[in-house]
Amino acid sequence: NANFLFNKMLSFHCFPKDPELRAQWLMKIRRHGFIVTTSSRVCSRHFETGDIFVSSSGKRCLQPKVVPSLFHWNNFSKKTERPGHLKCQILITLKQTKSI
Ligand SMILES: [Zn+2]
Repeated sequence: NANFLFNKMLSFHCFPKDPELRAQWLMKIRRHGFIVTTSSRVCSRHFETGDIFVSSSGKRCLQPKVVPSLFHWNNFSKKTERPGHLKCQILITLKQTKSI
């Protein structure tokens, strides 16, 4: 099915520049107070399929004002982990949480 194929493609997205929206992301990620850097990325798997669109240049972009919503503490499945996911900020923050 199309959604499955779409979700198989991993893309990485920067945190939003808008402070209000960024605060919503951090709340969702459950890392309130986490310092976001320019290298902080969240992968596409934490977004609903409709939240991501492909631009005319073929780049995968987030719709304005979307917030990541799929996590391991709801319906995010560990069975679908991939090596590419290691770059994802959400996985990194989870590891940090574990070691504390
Ligand atoms: Zn991820």
